[in-house]
Amino acid sequence: HYNFCAGPAALPTAVLERAREEMLDYRGRGLSVMEMSHRSEEYVAIAEKAEADLRELLGVPSHYRILFTQGGASQQFAAVPWNLLGKGGTANFIDTGIWGHKAIKEARHLFGEAHVAASSADHSHLEVPRPEAIALSSDAAYLHFTPNETIGGLAFDYTPQVQRDDGSEVPLVADMSSSILSGPLDVSRYGIIYAGAQKNIGPAGLVVVIVREDLLDRARDDMPSLFSYRELAAAGSMINTPATYSWYLAGLVFEWLKSDIGGLEAMDAINQRKSDKLYAAIDNSALYSNPIAVANRSRMNVPFVLADSRLDKEFLAEADQAGLLNLKGHRSVGGMRASIYNAVPEAAVDALVAFMSDFEQRRG
Ligand code: PLP
Repeated sequence: HYNFCAGPAALPTAVLERAREEMLDYRGRGLSVMEMSHRSEEYVAIAEKAEADLRELLGVPSHYRILFTQGGASQQFAAVPWNLLGKGGTANFIDTGIWGHKAIKEARHLFGEAHVAASSADHSHLEVPRPEAIALSSDAAYLHFTPNETIGGLAFDYTPQVQRDDGSEVPLVADMSSSILSGPLDVSRYGIIYAGAQKNIGPAGLVVVIVREDLLDRARDDMPSLFSYRELAAAGSMINTPATYSWYLAGLVFEWLKSDIGGLEAMDAINQRKSDKLYAAIDNSALYSNPIAVANRSRMNVPFVLADSRLDKEFLAEADQAGLLNLKGHRSVGGMRASIYNAVPEAAVDALVAFMSDFEQRRG
């Protein structure tokens, strides 16, 4: 079976097997990682290794802190403005779809205003705004964007450059929930990167935040301390009991990326091949289509529709029979969506492409 779920998504089989081996008795210590005190020497070693491996994989510079927190990526929709609006200013956003929109809504809910510096809504979210269209407010405290919109399958083909008119820098904040670790990244371009874990990192609920150290002093005084990047950083992400087992599993995924895959350049090449194959199959068919501008097509989430939507049900039922799971599009958009995150092997894409071609020949 191959799992094309958008999230919680497939985990690498090798990671699940390793977790099973270690589940009851972690490396001969006589207990499960789930049963360890987060303050124990053993667990702290697990947590520190996970952080070090992630830092190495992404090349995170030493003046950035890595936090392992909880509450899903959605909690960061509130945590980011709380952490960055303490010295005044307005939150700025690029709106490219459902997730970006939710982040805007939360900032407005908390602080009454949020400036939309650019939006792809005029283009039905089929292409991202061009860099020259980004118009920051004069008091922009930061610019938030979603490099990969998971539901729309819309991805940025550039990293926004963000400067005020006077040349000063506006920190760039990226919700990388559905694209982190899919390839190499220049972390130094960003003020904050955050990602819910359940696509390319590990189990749902866990969130990784990478924050530049100089931004730790911009938090509002009235914010909940559990959401405070400064306090999380000071406590090594252990203000309270962290999601210990999820953090451990994330560590296994980082190890897998390093040793089984060979790092993010290698992962990038695999992801490129996978998405090229799937989009080619879609573009070369009369039955399937994807409307996103070619340069902005997501490598992780590939939505597509059938020329005759009356065939949707059959397509999904037959795919399921063939062991190709969770291809139904998001409930808000319909159609199909194949999420092909890191853990989905190239063979899964090959199997999907073969199935699609066969289905088209029989029903198209
Ligand atoms: N941001 C993006 C880009 C997502 O894809 C998702 C979830 O799928 C979220 C945020 C919300 O994540 P969570 O459910 O962990 O809050």
